Amino acid sequence: MTTAISTEAPTGCRPGAFGNATHLICRACGATGPLGPFYACVECFGPLEVGYEFPAVTRAEIEAGPKSIWRYAPLLPVPADIATFRSTDPGFTRLVDARNLADDLGLRQLWVKDDSGNPTHSFKDRVVAVALSAARELGLKVLACPSTGNLANAVAAAAARAGIRSVVLVPENLERQKILASAVYDTTLIAIEGTYDDVNKLASEIAGEEEGWAFVNVNVRPYYAEGSKTLAYEIAEQLGWRIPDQIVIPVASGSQLTKIDKGLQELIKLGLVEEKPYKIFGAQATGCSPIAQAYRAGHDVVRPVKPDTIAKSLAIGNPADGPYVLDTVRRTGGVITDVDDETVVANIQRLARTEGIFAETAGGVTVGVTAKLIADSALDPDAETVVINSGDGLKTLDAVADKVGPKTTIPPRYEAFEDFWKDVRP
Ligand SMILES: *Cc1c(COP(=O)(O)O)cnc(C)c1O
Ligand SMILES: [Zn+2]
Repeated sequence: MTTAISTEAPTGCRPGAFGNATHLICRACGATGPLGPFYACVECFGPLEVGYEFPAVTRAEIEAGPKSIWRYAPLLPVPADIATFRSTDPGFTRLVDARNLADDLGLRQLWVKDDSGNPTHSFKDRVVAVALSAARELGLKVLACPSTGNLANAVAAAAARAGIRSVVLVPENLERQKILASAVYDTTLIAIEGTYDDVNKLASEIAGEEEGWAFVNVNVRPYYAEGSKTLAYEIAEQLGWRIPDQIVIPVASGSQLTKIDKGLQELIKLGLVEEKPYKIFGAQATGCSPIAQAYRAGHDVVRPVKPDTIAKSLAIGNPADGPYVLDTVRRTGGVITDVDDETVVANIQRLARTEGIFAETAGGVTVGVTAKLIADSALDPDAETVVINSGDGLKTLDAVADKVGPKTTIPPRYEAFEDFWKDVRP
C-alpha cells in the first residue's frame, strides 16, 4: 500500500465513481492507499475505511435532496448521480418522539429512531445500498454476504431490484421469518451448519477464490460501513440540525456504532451542526456480549465468544469492530453493557405497549440496555436521548410467541362476549 492519496477513480472506474471519497485509510496504522476493492491494510492487516475531501456542503442542499439516504450522497462514497440507479432507496425513517416510553423509563426526552421502516425492515438496507453502488462502480457482478439474517434480506432485495445475481450465506438455525424473507427474492440462499462466525470465515475463503463477487461486509466492507453514517445524519437533521446528548446503539460487529460516531464528527467538521459533547452507548445480549465483557474488564482486546442468545441478528462472537467500539464508547464517556434474553423479550413488549413499535430482538436488547443504564446511573435521565430500533418484530415472532396472543376463544354470540368482557374490562 502506498501513502499517496489519489483523487482519481480506481482503474477501470468512471470519474467520480466514489463521489468525494479520495482514498482508503488503515484504522490500525493510518497508512493510506487508493480506492478499490480492498479491505485489509497491506502493512498491518488492519481494517480499512474510506477517507474524503469534502467540499462545502449546506443544509439547504441536503434538504432539497431525495427522501432517502441519497440526500447525503456528497458525504458517501457514491457517485453524484446515485439516485438515478435502481436501488431500494433506504433511509429517512421516522424519528419518534417517545413520550410514553420516556415516562415509563423516567427519561425527560427520548426519541426512537425507527429503522424497521426501511425497505426490508432493518437498518441493513442502508449499508447494502452503499455497498451495491461500490460493487457496481468496481465492476463486481455478484452481490453476496455472510449474514445473521437481516443482511441477507437486504442483499437479496437490493440485488433483485438492481437486476443482478445474489448469494447469501446464513447459519442454519436462523429464524424462519428471516430465511423466507430472503428466499422470496429468488436469491441463492445457502444455510450453513455452524455459527455466524463459521459462516463469515467461509465467506472470506469464497471471496478469496471467486473473482467478481462483492461480499458486502467482507471485500467491500469499507464502503458498506459508510452507509451507517446516514443514521447519524438523519437523527441530527430530524432534530433540526442538532446532536442529541446520548445515543444507545445495538452492537453485533460494531460497525453501526462506530460509523454513527464518524457521521456525527463529519457533521461537526462540515459546520452542519454545532459542536457539542455527546455520549455513545452500546447494547449487547448477555449470550453474545464479547465487547461488553471487555469493557467491564477494562481490556482493549475483545475475546471471542460462542453466541447463545435469542438476539440472533446481534450474535457475532468475534466482532470485527470490537476494539473500535471500546474506543468510541470510552472516548465519548459512554458505556457498553448487556441484558439477558428474558429482559430482551420484556423490553420488546415494553416498546410495543408504550409506543406501538414492534421491534425485533435487537430492539429489545437496546431498550433493555437503556433501562439498565438508567438504573445504573450511567445514562443521565435529564439529557436528551436517542435509541436505535434497528429491526422489525415480525421477523422474530417466536421471541414473544408464548408471552402474548389470544387467551380465550369465544363463540360469535353477544352473551359470550359479555361474559368474557365483564372479567377483563378496565
Ligand atoms: C446487523 C444488525 C445490527 C448490528 O450491526 P453491526 O453494524 O454489525 O454492529 C443491529 N441490529 C440489527 C437488527 C441488525 O440486523
Ligand atoms: Zn495498517
